[in-house]
Amino acid sequence: MPPINICVVGSVNLDLNSYTDRLPAAGETIHARRFTTGHGGKGANQAVMAARLGGAVALVARVGQDLFGRDALDHFRAEGISTTHVTPTEGASTGTAVITVDATGRNTIVVSAGANGLLSVADVEAARSTIESARVLVCQQEVPSEANRTAMRIAEQAGVPVVFNPAPVGAGVPAEAYPLASVLCPNEHEAALLTGLPVRTPDEARTAGMELLGRGARTVVVTLGAQGCLVVTRERVEAIPAPDVEAVDTTGAGDAFIGSLAFFLARGEDVFSAARRATQVAAISVQRPGTQTSFPRVAELSASIV
Ligand code: ADP
Repeated sequence: MPPINICVVGSVNLDLNSYTDRLPAAGETIHARRFTTGHGGKGANQAVMAARLGGAVALVARVGQDLFGRDALDHFRAEGISTTHVTPTEGASTGTAVITVDATGRNTIVVSAGANGLLSVADVEAARSTIESARVLVCQQEVPSEANRTAMRIAEQAGVPVVFNPAPVGAGVPAEAYPLASVLCPNEHEAALLTGLPVRTPDEARTAGMELLGRGARTVVVTLGAQGCLVVTRERVEAIPAPDVEAVDTTGAGDAFIGSLAFFLARGEDVFSAARRATQVAAISVQRPGTQTSFPRVAELSASIV
């Protein structure tokens, strides 16, 4: 079978997690009970998910010329992800999220974009042939929007479908990005922020989805946490319920969903079938702790999912 090429343009972060009894006050030093690091960044997460399902994934990203950047590159290679277009950046640090979680689960998070903020139009142009030969391009909003738009335009010209995850919403989605999205995939909060409409139920998601179609997206998939997702096209709307599972950690569920959706689309499934399978994969990820550590590999999945 020919390789299922997927190109992900996006962010790479290292999560630094301290588990404490309580959150420190300004000027205070406290001791953590436990410390862990985790690979993160929406781009990296989605790339890892697609690779674990069997995709031939290329990541277009920037890391720092530092310990975390070297570690991220080793990690991508171990996951079988092409790092040709992951550029170590002099004078910049790798993106980080410094997270403190107290005994009650409350947290503070400080994100430093670092090298992610330096991903440029030239970086994306350098990956032109990788984007053009992909079966699907995946973008999110943790890198500069000009870089994203360049990638999406290259994909459009080459007839490569674009999965666009408008996360984090930040200042919104540039108007010209909507028509470049073959599949716009926000979660319920992002859909609400983008439309100004409430998005708590599949019915409300349908109204928001229609609004986003009106802005030019060709298909909208709104993820709804434990309620699954809603696929909205001009011809058909389908609510896909999530399996009833015991969620232990939903961090990264959205990225598991997007990475899987991209893989199944790249494999040639229509968006309804791809979303049904992605819902099953994401449900596995919420039953395990961590972000990328919770993403299943293809060998673990039942034949009905893959
Ligand atoms: P995000 O992680 O961006 O907030 P969601 O919470 O919408 O995204 O989750 C993405 C997908 O993960 C959902 O569409 C669903 O398929 C799955 N999922 C999330 N939470 C649960 C849950 N509690 N039970 C089963 N599946 C879940």
